Amino acid sequence: MFGKKSPEVIVAGAGPVGQLAALALAKRGIPLRIVDTGVWACSHSYALALHPGVIPLLDEFGLSEAALERAYPVKTIGFYDEAERRAQIDLTNPDDPRQCMAVLRQDAIESLFEKALNDAGVKIEWRHEVADIASNVDHAIAKVNKLQRESRGYVVAHSEWVVGKTEKIDVPFVIGADGYESEARRSMGIAFEETGPAEYFAVFEFKTDADLANEMKVVFAGDGANVLWPLPGGFCRWSFQLPEYESRDARRDKDRLLLSGGLTGNNMVDDAHLAQFIQERAPWFQGSIEQIVWRMVVRFERKLADAFGRDRVWLAGDAAHLTGPVGVQSMNLGMAEAHDLAFLMNRVLHEGAPLSDMETYGQQWLSEWRRLSGLTGGLKPIDGCDPWVAGHARAILSCLPAHGRELDKLAAQIGLGF
Ligand SMILES: Cc1cc2nc3c(=O)[nH]c(=O)nc-3n(C[C@H](O)[C@H](O)[C@H](O)COP(=O)(O)OP(=O)(O)OC[C@H]3O[C@@H](n4cnc5c(N)ncnc54)[C@H](O)[C@@H]3O)c2cc1C
Repeated sequence: MFGKKSPEVIVAGAGPVGQLAALALAKRGIPLRIVDTGVWACSHSYALALHPGVIPLLDEFGLSEAALERAYPVKTIGFYDEAERRAQIDLTNPDDPRQCMAVLRQDAIESLFEKALNDAGVKIEWRHEVADIASNVDHAIAKVNKLQRESRGYVVAHSEWVVGKTEKIDVPFVIGADGYESEARRSMGIAFEETGPAEYFAVFEFKTDADLANEMKVVFAGDGANVLWPLPGGFCRWSFQLPEYESRDARRDKDRLLLSGGLTGNNMVDDAHLAQFIQERAPWFQGSIEQIVWRMVVRFERKLADAFGRDRVWLAGDAAHLTGPVGVQSMNLGMAEAHDLAFLMNRVLHEGAPLSDMETYGQQWLSEWRRLSGLTGGLKPIDGCDPWVAGHARAILSCLPAHGRELDKLAAQIGLGF
């Protein structure tokens, strides 16, 4: 259906955000192409939950029931220290029995989206790269490079991906959902400034007999944030912040995500460290540790673009913002941004709205991210706030699974406000 017409939008990147943008465009009948340099979609559970406010967006594509069926529902966030439970946020809604945070592997989210795109007649063009994007008020021009594997060398034979064929595409809009090293952001000369120091986490996934009780537990202990996520099938994920880690391993500073997995070369993720983290930071966790299926040290940068785009090129997701992992904010807000972009692009393309409407998109999301990044003052205690919560207000902000007014409501439950 879409392949035959000239595309009106090129979506660069087929992560969760790019795929949701493509779904929302297809739903509005907008011809598009979605291309990704990757060989296929992600194959692990990186970001692992859908915010309560994002599930209704999936209704539009008939995907919310399928997502909820595969998910583990989280109904509360418990805040702890080493000794005990200190506060709780309720994520449910008496008027909507299905409301929860849905814990679902990122690869499961992406495969749901890709199937829905296929059903809508949109095929993701894997191994294609968007490059050299230029834009003015009338249109955008971009190269789409088809990548192919080529054998190189004769001393030690190896193969690498090289550009096989290049097309120059002229389109009304480009969506840059191309992740933290965004070519769209770079092409538009948009700065990506740090909003805070990078954070390192030791992450472990294992089977446990603990009663996970439909709760995500955030533990402020060991000079950082630690999180226990319940996962489907009796598994859980513990993430422990490593406040001292960066200074020990400064040469990795340029990587956004330090993917140091397995036991070789990294004792921070050995069994002894797992036991030690639990004993020191969450001794109240008495669950068994069986079948450790994933262990890794991951680096999370905190950055924000100084604009969400201009003219005919607009960013969404990690291309525009990076933050800590606890609140799963970058992916979820990215999906909401992608949804907004499709709505506004349709208005400009087919309903006579002025291009300046796109500026509103940029301003609104930039101001929301400035708020979320604590750049506009952060969360503050309001009357009656528990002193322990007040002391952790800054750290709590990036742990909340919401944005906009829903974020204010969650914060208000524990006596915090902007
Ligand atoms: C190991 C790991 C653990 C993580 N854990 C968490 C967590 O616990 N909580 C959390 O919130 N987040 C976590 N994240 C981050 C989370 O995965 C991202 O926030 C999320 O994937 C962002 O989605 P996105 O679609 O914006 O970008 P991405 O998922 O990065 O997708 C961008 C896509 O663009 C493609 N691309 C790049 N350049 C081009 C180009 N020039 N042309 C075409 N395609 C291009 C890439 O191949 C990629 O598929 C983790 C990430 C990793 C790697």
